[in-house]
Amino acid sequence: MINVTKPYQPNKQKFLSLINRVYEKGTWTNNGPLVQELEKRLASFLGVENIVLVSSGTMALQFGYKALELTGEVITTPFSFVATRNSLLWEGLTPKFADIDRETYNISPKAIEQVITEKTSAIMPVHVFGNPCEMDEISALAQKWGLKVIYDAAHAFGVKYDGKSVLTYGDVSILSFHATKLFHTLEGGAVITCDAVLAEKVRSLRNFGLAAKQRVIGINGKMNEIEAAVGLCILDDIEVIHAERQEIFNLYARGLKDYVFFQNWNPSATRNYSYAPILLSSEELLVKIIDDLKAEGVSPRRYFFPNLDEGTGLSPSNQSMAAEDVSKRILCLPIYPGLEVSRVKKIN
Ligand SMILES: *Cc1c(COP(=O)(O)O)cnc(C)c1O
Repeated sequence: MINVTKPYQPNKQKFLSLINRVYEKGTWTNNGPLVQELEKRLASFLGVENIVLVSSGTMALQFGYKALELTGEVITTPFSFVATRNSLLWEGLTPKFADIDRETYNISPKAIEQVITEKTSAIMPVHVFGNPCEMDEISALAQKWGLKVIYDAAHAFGVKYDGKSVLTYGDVSILSFHATKLFHTLEGGAVITCDAVLAEKVRSLRNFGLAAKQRVIGINGKMNEIEAAVGLCILDDIEVIHAERQEIFNLYARGLKDYVFFQNWNPSATRNYSYAPILLSSEELLVKIIDDLKAEGVSPRRYFFPNLDEGTGLSPSNQSMAAEDVSKRILCLPIYPGLEVSRVKKIN
């Protein structure tokens, strides 16, 4: 069975030699040398000032909310992974959904402004499938209404906007390093911010708040040395990973261009080929294509479906028309290094 993605395996020799280092030193967690090395290397590879590695992308979001001291309502997109919404609910914050743009699949700045209330403390847009949001408009809104901005950049590893890392926008951005993501550490994530004081706060929060000069209630959200070792190995291969994904993506783009719609990519941004979403003309056609592909041993995913404003007991929003429509017709095709080109041609 070909799945929509497959975790990238670190080079075994290299991984075992790092594990030997862990045995020799005897440090397995608590901000060990490999975690520190990975933070340095990622900061330089991504072009960011402060990056704090944590135990998951979900924890990274929750640390972001805590560090920014968010309260009340946070405006986000209904077209994302459940962690976007659930992380807010776990922190006692209320998600308010603003509709997306039909072409970029990202939250629409116009829709954001419509749901701002006196309880709103922040905007949490998602760079959906790695495609940067309309960040200039979002910054302007945040300024106008005095709101914080935290980007869920779980899909946007390595993406540049106007020549700069997309992670340098907003007050905070987060990455997920789950095994299914483009770059991974098995489980893991990161908080990225240009504000060094905020970064220190997250460093304290991830370790129970022990080092806090501010009185913060921390929790356990640390990355361990084994996870960091996986990340260090995979970071060495990142150019190859990118090239292989690009080749697969381009095969889909060429083969399917007359039959399906593709995401409208931000013209000022680079691509990371983290996903291969196609939009079909109807949900019926989508269901038929899934059946046909399953018969061929290929398992695409309906991603993201259903909308996040459904099924939580939150008041359903009848304003997320575009998100509802897109979520019913979108399909993510298999894309990962090692997927054979002949199989990609067959999927076409
Ligand atoms: C994967 C993902 C997350 C959560 O990351 P975990 O590391 O799995 O906790 C959050 N938001 C989005 C958009 C994601 O795709």
